[in-house]
Parts: sequence; C-alpha cells; structure tokens
Amino acid sequence: MATTGKIGVTTENIFPVIKKFLYSDHEIFLRELVANAVDATQKMKALAASGEYAEELGELSVRVELDESAKTLKVIDNGIGMTEEEVDRYINQIAFSSAGEFLEKYKDQLNSIIGHFGLGFYSAFMVAEKVTIETLSWKEGAAAVKWTCDGSPEYDMESCDKTDRGTVITLYIADDEKEFADKKRIEGLLNKYCKFMPVPVVFGEDNVINKVEPLWARKPADLKDEDYNEFYRTLYPMADEPLFHIHLNVDYPFNLTGILYFPKIKNNVDVSRNKIQLYCNQMFVTDSVDNIVPDFLTLLHGVIDSPDIPLNVSRSYLQSDANVKKISTYITKKVADRLDEIFRNERQQLEEKWDNLKLFIEYGMLSDEKFCDRAMKFCLLKNTENKYFSIDDYKKAVEGGQTDKDGKVVFLYATDAESQYSFVEAAKSKGYDVLLMDCQLDSHFVNLLETKVENARFARVDSDSIDNLIPKEDKIRPELSETEQEDLSVIFQAVLPKENHYYVQADNLGEDAAPILITQSEFMRRYREMSAMGGGMNFYGEMPAMYNITVNMQNPLVAKIMASKAADVAPAQVIPDAASDASEDVKRTVTEAKETAAAAHKADLEAFAGDNEILKQITDLALLANGMLKGKDLSDFIARSAKVVEDAYLK
Ligand code: ADP
Repeated sequence: MATTGKIGVTTENIFPVIKKFLYSDHEIFLRELVANAVDATQKMKALAASGEYAEELGELSVRVELDESAKTLKVIDNGIGMTEEEVDRYINQIAFSSAGEFLEKYKDQLNSIIGHFGLGFYSAFMVAEKVTIETLSWKEGAAAVKWTCDGSPEYDMESCDKTDRGTVITLYIADDEKEFADKKRIEGLLNKYCKFMPVPVVFGEDNVINKVEPLWARKPADLKDEDYNEFYRTLYPMADEPLFHIHLNVDYPFNLTGILYFPKIKNNVDVSRNKIQLYCNQMFVTDSVDNIVPDFLTLLHGVIDSPDIPLNVSRSYLQSDANVKKISTYITKKVADRLDEIFRNERQQLEEKWDNLKLFIEYGMLSDEKFCDRAMKFCLLKNTENKYFSIDDYKKAVEGGQTDKDGKVVFLYATDAESQYSFVEAAKSKGYDVLLMDCQLDSHFVNLLETKVENARFARVDSDSIDNLIPKEDKIRPELSETEQEDLSVIFQAVLPKENHYYVQADNLGEDAAPILITQSEFMRRYREMSAMGGGMNFYGEMPAMYNITVNMQNPLVAKIMASKAADVAPAQVIPDAASDASEDVKRTVTEAKETAAAAHKADLEAFAGDNEILKQITDLALLANGMLKGKDLSDFIARSAKVVEDAYLK
C-alpha cells in the first residue's frame, strides 16, 4: 500500500513557517504530543464505557521514551489509534485548504490558528528533522500504518507490523535542538506540562510523572481544608500556608474549574505575583495569567483550568477575547463573593488574618471599581488598639464624638503608632478613636475611602492640634496685631532648624496643653507622599518640608516668654511714610530707613530668642516629640536640659 504524497497544506514553506513563527517556545511540542496521546486514550475509555468496544482495554497509559544516544524521542499510547484513512484525513490534509496563503496572511495570529485548526502534531517539526507515526486503530480489521516525513512537505505512508492498538510517534531530534535529547530536560518538561494530566504519563521504568491528583477536578463537597492546604504545598513547596481558598467550578456559559488561594502578603506586592498556573483540561499552559485576570488577582496563587481560554494566542489578543472577558469578570465576582462569605461567617478568622490580606484587598479596591464597590462591605479597618471594624460599623461607632461642626465624620488615623504616639494619646484623651493606616498603599487608600464613604473625611492625627482636627464650634482665637504676629514668627524661626519651612501661628489650646505643637498639614503631606510614590506631582515632592508651628498662647511658659519679650525688646522704630509729593530722593531715603529699622528690630528679636534658654528648651521638646531633633541640636538640648535641672534643684 506504500504511497508517497504531498501534505495537504499545499505549501513548500509550511515547516519553516511552523519552526519560525508558530511557537516561540519550542519546548511545547512535548505538551502537544502527550496531549494528543492522552486524548486518544480518553476516547478509548469512552468507547469502552459506552460498550462500543467490548474487548480487554489493558492498562491505559502514555509512555515517553528517550534514547539519548540515538537522539530519538517516542510518545507511545494505547489509545484509539488511526486507520490509514484517518492518518490521511487528520495528518495529511490539514483542516483547511490553501493553508500556505492563509498562514502568510495571518502570520501575526498564527499562534491562535494553531490552537483552533489542530496543527498541534506538526509542532514536532520544531525540534525533529524526521517524524514517524506508527499506528493501529482500535477498529476491527484495521491495518497498521507507518507515516514518515522528514520535514519537507512530502511524506511516505506504508503498512507496518505494529500489532497492539495505539500510536507510537517517533521524533528524530534535529542537531540544533539537541537539548531535547537530554533526559533531565525531558523529565523537566513532563513535570512542567503533564503533572496533572488525566492518564498516567510514564517516563522510564516505573516513573509516573502525574502522581499528584488534580484537586480542582474533584467535588468541593468531598474535600477538607487540609486537602486544599496539602495541594497548595505540592504547588508551592516553599510558601507559607495560604489564608483562604476558593474552589471555582462553572460549566455555563463557559467551562472553568480551579482553586485559588489567598497568600500571605506582608509588604512587597510583587513577590507574590504570577503564581497562578493556567491549565487546559489538566494540561499546563502557562504561569502568567496577566491579561486573563485583572491585575490585582495575579496576586492570588493556585490553578485555573479552562478549555475556553484560547491557547497560544498573542497576549493582546487574549484581552479582547469575549470568553476571556467573561472569565475575568466571573473570577473577580467569585473572589468578592468568597470574601463576603468569610466576612459574614468567619469573622474571627478574617480578623486574625486581616493584616496579611489587607494589602491584597486594598490593591483590588484601588484598581478595580467593581471589586471596590463590593469590598466596601467586607473591608476591615483596624484601630490603634488592634480592634477591627467594618467601614460602616466604624462610622457608626465614631460619629457620635467625631463629627465636626460642618457635620462631617472625621476618621482620625496614624501611620506609625510609635512615632505619632503623643498625638494618638492626645486624641484618645479627648475620647476619640484613631485608626492605624500603616501599609504600603494606605496613603492612596485613604484618598479612595474619602470618595467612597459619604460625609466623612480623614485626618492624620499629627496634622493639626486635636481641637483643629475635629473643630467643634467656632472657638476664640488669640487676637494678635500684625506686628505681634510677625514678632512671634521671627522668634520661633530663630530657634527652629533651618532646613525646613515653618508657618508660625498663635492659638488657644488650653493652659494644660503643650506650649508648642508641630504638625504637618494633611494636604501638603498627602501631596508629598503621592509624588514620592510616583504620582507625577513633582512640584510638591521637591519642595522643602513645610511644618505648622502652633504656639499655645494660654500655656504659662509661652505667656512668660511673651512678657519678657515685651520687656526686653524695644518695639520697632516707627518711621512715618514720606509725603506723597516728596521728591524721589526723599522717598528712597525713607524706604531705606524703614528697611534698616526692620532689620534692627529683627536682629533684636533674634538676639532675644538666642538668649532665652526656655524658649529654646520648649521648642526642642516639641521637635523631640516629632522625632525631628537630631545631631548637634540634640546634644545641645541634652546639655541644656542637664543645666536646667541643676539650676532648678540645686539653687
Ligand atoms: P488537534 O489535536 O488540535 O486536533 P493535531 O494536529 O495535534 O491537532 O492532531 C490532529 C488529529 O490527529 C487529532 O485530532 C487526532 O484525530 C489525530 N491524532 C493525533 N495524534 C493522535 C494519537 N496519538 N492517537 C490518535 N489520533 C491522533
């Protein structure tokens, strides 16, 4: 029966095309061949189950055999096999005519064509200079055939003496693809692509590659938490225990199964990324699922298996695929559903694991609007006493005490409970509650919440005096004339570190409150933080830090300093303006005299400030409370403090 023929693709170029364009990744040939063998075996099982095939099935498996010295690789199955006519139809006549032109035209999308039109087998030519198929169909009376092709479009078909049912594909590995004639390499590939295939895949004596059970293919009702955790360990032997899992299972309008895990994410978002493995009918496809699931979900770990995700297509094509869109929406919804369920039924667990889950949720809320709307319900807030609240509950809990005079509920927060300790304490002593917002994304997250929580605003606890953070009713401010205000500013600027800018203002904070409060305006700080994180607002990022210095005029120390200033520093010399009809010369002389007088007054004030140890002391104490006292200033402060203590006690 020997025949020679031309492969139906009718092109001289099909093999170079396959080699060059079809897969950038040559290694996937093995996945394609094993998948075909698994398919043929599964079909055999189905025939036996339906009774169409009544004889002994034998032990069904796919064997991969490598002869390193001969450089041949065989994929052997005892599946349904092919008749001569089937080899002709499935192998020789590729599913479309004039494939050459077709391929030429759609070069860019070739990878999708391969999946859709069944060129899988031909991927063998990416690594082999010659391929043979020896096959015997299960059908009664079928004759065994051998097909041989050396990579040109010509093939040979002849009968052969194969006596057992099934197919043997033999690859003669090409010289420039020698890596695929290496045992370690082949074993590695089988482990990567075939670990969960539904038929035993054997490589070498007794070495079954796919011993691990694909847990996602089983019914959730039959599985315990421990099963899920154990499966997680086989997927990621080095990782920490996952926090929660989701078992995905849908068959309409698309087919998808899988198990997703929420991993512990402490601080670095990126180390957790790209751990989801994508399978197609238990055959590994890829471990980068970006473009299939929304960005924030790539932080999850686990397995997705779907025959409805087009394989091997270009990444940009994937995003626009209708099925992929549906799948992506479905997964996002499932993740939100699951978190909602945990929130309702496992609140305790959620609180215990929240610190490790928070970054994932915040990232999701910041990047996916739909997810955000759902998450507003189950997202937790933690306060500085380590209590957790839902956003709604928190608002209800604080609105009694923390509503300002404009009717807005003020959510106070600290970003560092240690360094903002005194501010947190001041807020607590007023009966206020303070949230802890100390994670990587919190500055963005605070902005987001402000747009989502109605009638609320956020204020960092150290951004103003506590009375001003939640202003209750218009209070009486100290009345300072313009020159008094100016003098106050000069005196304090004189004793503050030079590298920052300060806005000095007088306020009444009460007799018992600290003499000076140093704060950074919420607005300025947020802009600086955002620009530091790459928000594009560099103008603010480059500005020196700007602090508000609130001088408490009711504090007795301040009162005493102001009194001694009044006694020691002569008021600025008042020089009357030149008459409007005076000559230019006179006008200039008057302006110069004014400037000289102002400079002299400023020098007097600075000399006063420099001599006043208590002024220096209370300013340094305020700096110290903010962690801003460093280097020489700090050691001067310590020396001065020692002297103040001695003076007070020994004299
Ligand atoms: P696809 O698998 O996408 O259909 P392939 O080019 O890999 O495309 O295979 C074409 C056809 O050849 C398969 O659909 C199947 O009918 C047949 N075939 C390939 N390998 C085998 C095998 N090991 N046993 C039986 N039939 C096979």
